[in-house]
Amino acid sequence: MKKFLIYLCLFIFICFILPALLTKQDMKANSSDIAKQAPIDMTNQEDKNNAESKTDMDKNNTTIQLLHQKTGEIEEVELEKYLCNVVSAEMPASYELEALKAQAVVARTYTLYKVKNKKHENADICDTSTCCQAWVTKEERLARWEENLRESNWQKIEQCVNETKGKIITYQNEPINAFFHANSGGTTELPVNVWGGSGFPYLQVVQTAGEEGYSQYASEVELSNEELIEKLKTKYQDIQINFQDPEDIKILEHTDSNRVKTVKFGNHEISGVETRSIFGLKSTNFEMVKEANKIKFTVKGYGHGVGMSQTGADTMAKQGSNYEEIINHFYIGIEIKGINSLS
Ligand SMILES: [Zn+2]
Repeated sequence: MKKFLIYLCLFIFICFILPALLTKQDMKANSSDIAKQAPIDMTNQEDKNNAESKTDMDKNNTTIQLLHQKTGEIEEVELEKYLCNVVSAEMPASYELEALKAQAVVARTYTLYKVKNKKHENADICDTSTCCQAWVTKEERLARWEENLRESNWQKIEQCVNETKGKIITYQNEPINAFFHANSGGTTELPVNVWGGSGFPYLQVVQTAGEEGYSQYASEVELSNEELIEKLKTKYQDIQINFQDPEDIKILEHTDSNRVKTVKFGNHEISGVETRSIFGLKSTNFEMVKEANKIKFTVKGYGHGVGMSQTGADTMAKQGSNYEEIINHFYIGIEIKGINSLS
């Protein structure tokens, strides 16, 4: 009987108590696994956050491949630092802070557009204003300023780049082709009238008052009849003009922004853009006056006239506009966004 009780106790222990104990231990083990798992998950989350912020930082600290046209050397430069060199080369440091900030955003946008729409084989952009965007070394730039202005000018440029850090102009969530020029002569131009193509919806004809106050606004080129013929012959060897006939040299057509579209020079009809190039005019916004044995071109504005006018930006800043208002004036239907919002 005593033996039977021992067997019964053993049976109860094996069948009920032992499994219960083991299950409890398993549960304990599982819960400790969960407890152990949680910090791992959190760590992963932290890693993920770190990874994301690292990506953000990477976007802000984008490097670009800059081609130096004179040497052919390609240099890797940090975007925000590169922009200080560009802004200081493209706009006078004496311009208003908000105009310089607008220039920084425009230059950043123009750069990113070039990164996405490459013009050069192994580089993102080059250092030449006639091809891509002007660039000077800090040393070169400082040397060109008066000594007492060097430090404050450079600080002003850095401030404008830093205070707009990562800001770009977008249209349909893509960086725009942010053209700019020195002086619009009061009215900007459509890209189709300069380079052909189908244009961009954000580059329209806009007006800015006050650009006449800048040295880039008015200029003149005077040529004798012989000089005019000589220059035209470089492109049109068979050129013939009857200078006695007032109908033989005249502007035939203007663009919507009142720039010259077509000019008749004797037996040739030449575009305003080509006329500008042949005679070295500052813009296509010109008039021709015939005088005895010579032609005088009176020109308004400086540059192709597309996008933001720098003197227009400075005028607006002087009148109290901030950089966002300036940008929204010159580029239509755009959004100013952080570089990180781009996919
Ligand atoms: Zn280039």
